[in-house]
Amino acid sequence: MYLLLFSLTCYATKRDTIVNSFKFKTVIIDPGHGAKTEGSPPGHYSRGADGSFSSERNVTLAIALKLQAAIEKDVTGVKAVLTRKTEADVSWERRAEIANENKGNLFISLHCNSLSDRLVRERVGTKKGKPVYRSVRVPDRSGKGALMLIYGLHRSREEENAIKNNQIEEDSDLNGSGLDPNDPTVIILTAEYKRKFRKQSVAIANYINDEIVGGDGRRSEGLREQGIYVLCHSAMPSVLVETGYINNPDDEAYLNSEDGQNEIVASIVRAILNYKKQAEQ
Ligand SMILES: [Zn+2]
Repeated sequence: MYLLLFSLTCYATKRDTIVNSFKFKTVIIDPGHGAKTEGSPPGHYSRGADGSFSSERNVTLAIALKLQAAIEKDVTGVKAVLTRKTEADVSWERRAEIANENKGNLFISLHCNSLSDRLVRERVGTKKGKPVYRSVRVPDRSGKGALMLIYGLHRSREEENAIKNNQIEEDSDLNGSGLDPNDPTVIILTAEYKRKFRKQSVAIANYINDEIVGGDGRRSEGLREQGIYVLCHSAMPSVLVETGYINNPDDEAYLNSEDGQNEIVASIVRAILNYKKQAEQ
């Protein structure tokens, strides 16, 4: 579930983070969510969605660990760095820092999707000749398949409101209207993002989507733009992969199975190989 989205404000504090090498050396793998532990540093944390027998945070970590091993085995000369190696959650802020500190060439965030319960009116009886209703929550298990999220450059009204109501704006010295258009680092990163990172983010998202649909024969909702903190603050091409719906019984079984996890990993590795070839040309 992509609850971590809110800040569309893209900015950089260090100019050097936006200089990208054409040599593809490092993939950052970001297992979404985690269990917040006592004494965690300040920041934003999110425990993720739950299925009927499993949790998003455990599924994303299992897939991430397999993906790291597979990249280091099958993608020659490329190192894979994890933003989280244990069950303990890592703040979104720290995840973006890890990505930038390690000079990642590509950022892949792993998540599971989930639909909220639906609220329906149910007739429970009759009182004085009139029907009596109550509202009940009904799980919505209709979501199925993968979804690729890429950082959106244009804000929707809901996103504007989410940003306005969000703490991070205050934390990051930015006023409610977003970034200072005259700040040179903002100008550079925005231009850079538009020109290169954005194009490459779409490319990796398409490669992964093609493998999941064409290679594995799974359903996908394709690519969607979204304002996502970890994508926005990582100065590199980035994609968030919703690997499946954890509140759909078929998807949950798949996401927790060895075969399912290995299939997702193999698809992402094939996509990275295609992407690397294209990026280094
Ligand atoms: Zn999530």
